[in-house]
Amino acid sequence: MKDLLEKAKIAQKSSYAPYSHFNVGSALLCKDGSVIMGCNVENASYGSTICAERVALSSAICAGKREFVAMAIVGGENMTQADSLFPCGACRQFMAELCSPDFEIVTVVDGKIRIFKLGELLPNGFKL
Ligand SMILES: [Zn+2]
Repeated sequence: MKDLLEKAKIAQKSSYAPYSHFNVGSALLCKDGSVIMGCNVENASYGSTICAERVALSSAICAGKREFVAMAIVGGENMTQADSLFPCGACRQFMAELCSPDFEIVTVVDGKIRIFKLGELLPNGFKL
C-alpha cells in the first residue's frame, strides 16, 4: 500500500487548487492491477469543484474499469501531506456506488499507514 500512497503523492502534484491551496492526490488500485490517479480540480464556482477521489473513479470508469480494490489519498495545504486525511461525505457516497463495502481507503494517521474499509467510513450508505 506504500506504493499506492507514493502514486497518490505524484497525482497531488497535478492538483488544481487556486482557491483553497489544499492539494489532494489519489491513486485507485483496480482489480486488474492497474492504477488510476486523480487530483482535486477546483472551480471559481466552488460547488463545481471535484475531489481527487471522484476524479480517479470517474477516469477509471471512462477507461472501462468496473472493479476496484483500494484507493490511497494524500493531501495538504501547498503540496504538503496532512495527517489523517479522509474522503469527504460526497466521495464516500460516490465510492459506495462503485465499490464494495470491503473497498480499502489508504491514508496516513499519526504518521502511520492506515487502511479503512469503505463500510467503516460509510455505514448504512444510501443505495437504491
Ligand atoms: Zn470528496
